[in-house]
Amino acid sequence: MTTGVVDADVPRTDVAESAAHPLHGVWHRLREWLPQGNMLHSHVFAARHRMITRLALVQAVALGVYGIVADHDASSALVAVLVAGLPALGGLLTSLPRAVRMLSVVTSLMFASASLVDLTHGLTEAHFHFFVMLGVVSLYQDWAAFGLCVLITVVHHALMGLAAPGTVFATAAQRSHPVQWALIHGGFILAASITHIVAWRFTEQLERRDPLTQLPNRAAFADQVDQALGQHPGPVSVLFVDLDNFKAINDSGGHHLGDLALTHAATVMADNLRPNDVIARLGGDEFAVLVLGDATLGERLATRILKSLQEPFTADGREVLVTASIGVADTELTISRVSADLLRGADLAMYCAKSSGRNKLVRYSAEVDIAVRERAALAADLQHALERNELDVYYQPVVLGEPPRVCGVEALARWHHPRHGMVPPDTFIPLAEESGLIKTIGAFVFRVAATQVAAWHRDLPGCADLQLAVNLSPVQLRDPTLVAMIGDTLGHSGLAPGHLIVEVTESMLLAELDLARRQLEALRSIGAQVAIDDFGTGYSSLSYLAKLPADQVKIDKSFVQDLAREKSPSVALVRSIIDMATALGLDVQAEGVEIDEQQAILSGLGCERAQGFLYSRPLPSADFAQFMSATPRVLPTVELAPVDADLVDEAS
Ligand code: C2E
Ligand code: CA
Ligand code: CA
Repeated sequence: MTTGVVDADVPRTDVAESAAHPLHGVWHRLREWLPQGNMLHSHVFAARHRMITRLALVQAVALGVYGIVADHDASSALVAVLVAGLPALGGLLTSLPRAVRMLSVVTSLMFASASLVDLTHGLTEAHFHFFVMLGVVSLYQDWAAFGLCVLITVVHHALMGLAAPGTVFATAAQRSHPVQWALIHGGFILAASITHIVAWRFTEQLERRDPLTQLPNRAAFADQVDQALGQHPGPVSVLFVDLDNFKAINDSGGHHLGDLALTHAATVMADNLRPNDVIARLGGDEFAVLVLGDATLGERLATRILKSLQEPFTADGREVLVTASIGVADTELTISRVSADLLRGADLAMYCAKSSGRNKLVRYSAEVDIAVRERAALAADLQHALERNELDVYYQPVVLGEPPRVCGVEALARWHHPRHGMVPPDTFIPLAEESGLIKTIGAFVFRVAATQVAAWHRDLPGCADLQLAVNLSPVQLRDPTLVAMIGDTLGHSGLAPGHLIVEVTESMLLAELDLARRQLEALRSIGAQVAIDDFGTGYSSLSYLAKLPADQVKIDKSFVQDLAREKSPSVALVRSIIDMATALGLDVQAEGVEIDEQQAILSGLGCERAQGFLYSRPLPSADFAQFMSATPRVLPTVELAPVDADLVDEAS
């Protein structure tokens, strides 16, 4: 799908709709501006209600006392106590619904104002009590409470003003026009109300908006989804958006850069939506979008967002790239019009997008549901894999020169799952990274491999100088105990630091350069070497190589495997990587060499080190010893899979 099509299909302004309802926009804006009401959290409501009820009860008693002190007869004083006190008692009955209890207390407060005015024979100053009560009532932040307050004021003034003007108004002029004065007093109450509404709206905004992006928060979003599901009969969809590298940005550039990245992402997303779509920040680096339409429409909007996020933005003088993983679900896919189901579907789809490589869009489906559940089950199994001895280390030979001679091995983790058989590291390493288990697994792989290679140094003919390459995950590189762990393990295994190469990926270095540099420099200072793995797949330019704390570059297998194709652009790319690396004094190693032709091109370009199925697949330790005793050029029979037929055809 091209973006041109996307843009044409999804207009940013819904022209048809606004033309059909000219007042729609005004009403919509007014609704937006007015506070929503009835949204105090139950614990906040309970605390305020308790306080207001107490006030109402104390006030009822105080009215009685005042009646007696002010020389009224006992019955008038008692009436005042009952009129204000009885409704206040309703506020105490926890069996009643929240709204009924609230309105009882509001009635009590307003009746207290009316009684006070009555007891003072319409004294003007006594009317101020209405305003005080209005302020108290506004603490409920509720339209019904507020409306009842204004209603009782107007009705009291009008009715009592007609029936017994002396109990409401102080002057003769007022008494002769009770309705007119009721409306004037009502008008003042209304004016005072507006100030309360404004204050109330600000409080609501504070509670319902994310202070950084000014977007609705999770609670406000959930309400919006509920509302849309109730009012919109057609399909409703939700996009769940999670930024991919936010933590890295925050860690490397500080919270200020993190905040800029969040506001940038929020702006980009909002710019790609239509006026009626609702975008919210759910927390951290998670956003959600509500779309009145099906998942196909949702997907188009999401594609547009992903495309716009491809553009890096400049902050604090550097270019920053924030990509996102997006999950889309609609009410038809989830077969449910319950907001929690819709959000969960979109969340699961997002999780799927994240685990299938980030910067992706996934539409919810029953299969997504199953895949996510299976992945979660696998993650749970992985927790016990080490203690159940299911993890193992394989060794893939690295060769040097012509004819190729084995100069080292790369240690690669293997998981023999009791039910699923061999689970590839591309599946379980990300799971281990998510749970943090990679620290333990990484330490295990390193301990086993270092011990093994040290033993080969002693026992295996021709292996006295074998180098060991181990992969370091970004999670490990962030771990402050990493260098100590590696130092200790080297000490225990007897492997000399000069034989160790740690492999890190380029993208992880870009994201967390400062921290990574410090850790890698520390490892180099104890004598280990650093290799940049999968080089060429990240975003960095070649000139960036000079800044990396590295000794070696591993050209990613995707380029190597493309080399033998006719007119392949990879040849030029690989040549420039090799030239650049050589100029910087770095070793270059090719990965994924599968056929002779690739090897021939590589050695023609000056790359002497290589690794790939052409020489050997990753081998269990016992098979490696056997492999070394045979000719290195002989392909071992273990773990052998057919080489890509197309490549072989083209090469022959
Ligand atoms: P990697 O570090 O790029 O490792 C090389 C991968 O390429 C290995 O996959 C290897 O089996 C495969 N390979 C080698 N030669 C060829 C070839 O000629 N053709 C093809 N198509 N593939 C070849 P493997 O063992 O499945 O590992 C996948 C990735 O998992 C590794 O990629 C590495 O990123 C990660 N990994 C494996 N073990 C560990 C570990 O102990 N720690 C960490 N952090 N990551 C690991
Ligand atoms: Ca590697
Ligand atoms: Ca690699």
